[in-house]
Amino acid sequence: MQETKLWINGKWEATKETYNLTAPYTGEVIAKVAKASVADAERAIEGAHQAFQSFKKTTAYERAEILYKVVGILRERKEELAEILAQEAAKPISAGLAELERTISTYQFAAEGAKQPMGETVPMDAAGVADRIGYTKRVPLGVVSAITPFNFPFNLVAHKLGPAFAVGNTVVLKPANQTPLSSIVMAEIFKEAGLPDGCLQIVTGSGSELGDVLATHKHVKKLTFTGSGAVGLKLKEKIGLRKITLELGSNAAVIVEPSTQLENMMERAVGGAFGFAGQVCIALQRVYVQRDIYDRFVELFVEYTKRLKIGDPLDKETDLSAMIHPNEVDRIKSWIAQAEEQGAVVATGGEFTERTMTPTVMTHVKADMKIVCEEVFAPLVSIVPYDTLDEAIELVNASDLALNAGIYTNVLTDAMRAADELEAGAVMINDIPTFRVDNMPYGGVKNSGYGKEGIKYAIEEMTEMKLITIKTSL
Ligand code: NAP
Repeated sequence: MQETKLWINGKWEATKETYNLTAPYTGEVIAKVAKASVADAERAIEGAHQAFQSFKKTTAYERAEILYKVVGILRERKEELAEILAQEAAKPISAGLAELERTISTYQFAAEGAKQPMGETVPMDAAGVADRIGYTKRVPLGVVSAITPFNFPFNLVAHKLGPAFAVGNTVVLKPANQTPLSSIVMAEIFKEAGLPDGCLQIVTGSGSELGDVLATHKHVKKLTFTGSGAVGLKLKEKIGLRKITLELGSNAAVIVEPSTQLENMMERAVGGAFGFAGQVCIALQRVYVQRDIYDRFVELFVEYTKRLKIGDPLDKETDLSAMIHPNEVDRIKSWIAQAEEQGAVVATGGEFTERTMTPTVMTHVKADMKIVCEEVFAPLVSIVPYDTLDEAIELVNASDLALNAGIYTNVLTDAMRAADELEAGAVMINDIPTFRVDNMPYGGVKNSGYGKEGIKYAIEEMTEMKLITIKTSL
């Protein structure tokens, strides 16, 4: 069985304590994982601070070359890496390969981002000052703490490491305790690509034990966190004047207007609701359908849902596999039972084993049911009829979570109204909200986040703007 270590200052370090990593699909222990202590995390941060003193002096060309090499290695190893996702996260191999493609694209954007202009001239003469030149540059911050979730263990780590290294920061990474293996392999890959020792430190272990030091150590200049809202809020309260980016949960909604070609959007909508068992921050959770097309929509949605295959994540035919932990199955089972007591109907699905649940479509739901107003983070979608577009927009906006939202309509003026009035970080017209490419600005409003990712935008948040002026005559 694999026994993992911490990656500190370019060396593997064993720890006194370890924990067993269990595969979500089989329930078997697949690794003994090193559990970092607070003292280990402090050493990692201090090492990263030390490494920053020389890494900040490297050229953009050198940093881009390292990232391009990472891209090349990932291209060669993607099949093997997708298997890690299947084992530690029960991510179906097809979805794992898609995540690897995204990860490659993220590091590629980061390499390109390293070489983009990072400043501008400031017209001092506009203030009436004739003998001064002013310009800005963006400078790295120093040590960035990165805390990541289990659901996209390669790509969401890439959204931290890529922009941080592009500009010369160093990183202490704490991956989710369920998905450490995908981060550990990145240590090897970055080492092979030529990243200097100490620039990437990896501390595996418990987020609740290591969170404080990662947020508050004097050498940490920024915390970038992707995960649940409850943890994000706690970290925001601790962070003081340091910079912070929070990418949190959501309960994504789409509006389907009567002009929509239902057959053309159905496969994508079902995929967006149930991909990776709905454990995606922008998984489609609420579908608001205009009453005239509601019955036909539900009929088609159920038909397409029934085609999905649950099974072994290593099987190429599998569409969805186990949920991340049996506790998650129990949680969602009780939410469904509660909703049914209040009148909701299971149109399809609602069957459970200890580790899996069938993709579930709910109708006759009410706005205050947990399955509607909280993040379900499970293969469950609610379909709700509405009469007017005003009403639909109001229903979408009723949520205090707001990452992406979508609308299907062929009426341009309605589309533009929705673009203006939907409260969300991004509005997708003629698509489900489950859409992200890795160079777009990405981040929620309301309780879904604080700050943006997407390489260019993360680079802004991982650098400080500095102004320089030159007096041209004395
Ligand atoms: P989570 O439980 O919040 O865990 C995320 C990370 O935070 C893990 O590394 C976890 O470590 C750590 N953590 C836990 N308690 C902590 C504490 N007190 N202080 C500091 N760190 C702590 O979330 P998850 O279950 O892995 O991921 C699911 C959530 O992430 C969902 O809400 C989803 O919507 C959200 N998400 C958002 C985005 C986005 O881009 N907006 C993307 C993906 C996921 P341990 O694993 O050791 O507990």
